[in-house]
Amino acid sequence: MSVLVFADSSEGKFKKSAFEVVSYGKKVAEQLGSKVVTLSINGGDASELYAYGAEKVIEVKEDSLSTFNAKAYASIIQQTADAQNSNVVIIDSSIDGLFVAPMVAVALEAGYASNVVALPSSTEPFTVKRKAFSNKAFSNTVISTDKKVIGLAKNSFGAHENSVSGSTESFSATLPELGVSSTSVERASGKVTIADADIVVSAGRGLKGPENWGMIEELAEVLGAATACSKPVSDLGWRPHGEHVGQTGKPVASNLYIAIGISGAIQHLAGINASKVKVVINTDADAPFFKAADYGIVGDAFEVVPQLVEKLKAFKQS
Ligand SMILES: Cc1cc2nc3c(=O)[nH]c(=O)nc-3n(C[C@H](O)[C@H](O)[C@H](O)COP(=O)(O)OP(=O)(O)OC[C@H]3O[C@@H](n4cnc5c(N)ncnc54)[C@H](O)[C@@H]3O)c2cc1C
Repeated sequence: MSVLVFADSSEGKFKKSAFEVVSYGKKVAEQLGSKVVTLSINGGDASELYAYGAEKVIEVKEDSLSTFNAKAYASIIQQTADAQNSNVVIIDSSIDGLFVAPMVAVALEAGYASNVVALPSSTEPFTVKRKAFSNKAFSNTVISTDKKVIGLAKNSFGAHENSVSGSTESFSATLPELGVSSTSVERASGKVTIADADIVVSAGRGLKGPENWGMIEELAEVLGAATACSKPVSDLGWRPHGEHVGQTGKPVASNLYIAIGISGAIQHLAGINASKVKVVINTDADAPFFKAADYGIVGDAFEVVPQLVEKLKAFKQS
């Protein structure tokens, strides 16, 4: 028996979430008294995974998968799980991970728990703690099938260095016939994406119009942050829909989330709960966002943000 962890990567580099799932998988394997096996598909240098406790890394190198394909990835994970006799499979909660995990569960006839935020509280019965109701509550879920798939919520466990002398094996999985393939990919360059960002600077309808986003972009640039927005802002066409954060938009699990001129409606908060430190700038001291904030500035964004940019620039130069 083993615990299989899928270490996701992009363009030959492991995503940060890969180190978090490996750290988590190692601990789950310890709880079960079994080994952790890590799968990398066109990933980076396996020794980066050893540093987080990956004792055995299975590498699949497949040129035809230079872009993500859910059906192929799910099939490779299932084949690896079968070959490694894995009864627990752990997958991150990136967009790709959320796509693949249910497919893996179906292929393995496994019970699947998504949004898992902690190590199993019990292995017999196998019980995991999960976020529920848009992060407003937790549920303790028993996975009762022999095989189990866990979807680990981003930033819930953290990446913990735990260096081991690992080994790497290559694996030639059989690729399924693919109904869909990417013919070309265009990537936005020079910008930090919301999903990978450590810092996100987000703004709402309080900014009054798209012409005022210059100062938001400037703040993001000085912090090396991604930019985001509330739903009405993207609905109004002030910002692209890819930036809209919340229940119906993208989830954010950054270390720092700065919300400027955003009221803090429940649907917005649902998307940012996983962020560690939340800073709010709003003219209305009663704005609901202040209840969710770690730090708050009651003030006019048009006065506060330029001063913040100026101070940060001076700090970086000093
Ligand atoms: C089914 C459903 C799903 C939804 N999904 C989402 C979602 O995923 N994401 C999302 O964001 N919303 C979502 N919404 C919309 C949500 O309910 C709110 O309407 C929305 O989040 C409000 O956006 P806002 O805070 O930018 O605007 P507003 O509610 O208009 O708030 C603007 C804020 O800016 C402040 N402000 C004004 N001027 C300034 C200034 N000069 N400086 C600083 N602060 C200022 C105001 O005090 C106010 O708090 C959803 C709604 C529904 C019904």
